[in-house]
Amino acid sequence: MSNKLVAGNWKLNGSLAENKVLLDGLQSPDGVEVAVCVPYPYLAQAGLLLKGIALGAQDVSEYDRGAYTGEVSASMLAEFGCHYVIVGHSERRALFAESDAAIGRKAAAALSGRLVPIVCIGETLDEREAGQVMAVVGRQLAAVLDVLGVEAMGQVVLAYEPVWAIGTGRSASADQVAEVHGLIRAWLRDQGVAADGVRILYGGSVKPGNAAELFALADVDGGLIGGASLVAEDFMSICRAAV
Ligand code: PEP
Repeated sequence: MSNKLVAGNWKLNGSLAENKVLLDGLQSPDGVEVAVCVPYPYLAQAGLLLKGIALGAQDVSEYDRGAYTGEVSASMLAEFGCHYVIVGHSERRALFAESDAAIGRKAAAALSGRLVPIVCIGETLDEREAGQVMAVVGRQLAAVLDVLGVEAMGQVVLAYEPVWAIGTGRSASADQVAEVHGLIRAWLRDQGVAADGVRILYGGSVKPGNAAELFALADVDGGLIGGASLVAEDFMSICRAAV
């Protein structure tokens, strides 16, 4: 497995002035890959200011061109220097009604445009309490695999993000993360995907205080960081924990 990947998800935050302060405070420590996924209008600014840090977006259209008002294609993101794009974040699933199948098509569109999709999967608290974690995660993964096929599935990054841990300050425990990441890796292997090469990130209230413990787990290949990626000092401390 390559170096760990730590990706920041800025969500709907930022301004030209705030971004400059934040971006000027980022450097990539040796031995870890760092990415920031910024709102579309700030891709050009971030592309100019980032040094040694990969650029990403937070969503992509399943279409490449045509009468789809408001959509942004993978080829457009690639022109702005994006390497990564988040696909299927739980906020997109829940607030914008993105289906498992549409997320599969977005992952395919990303790969066709030579972007690496960071595909988010994860259960709600009700689903966890009903003992359905792998039923849900397996269904979400299967929808992506259906569209991509086995070989392309080996090229995505996965982010296990339990919905109840996102933005709540309540991270999943190390035991919970280790269990689900191991099950995801085994699920991929069972489907014939080259599972050892797939980076599986953890996301959900990762902070400087819990990052090292989570990143030390066997099947955790980095993190997807929301709130803490908006403060340079915190984000850098999380990145250093992944070295
Ligand atoms: C996220 O938005 O992907 C996320 C993990 O958010 P937070 O780190 O704020 O929980």
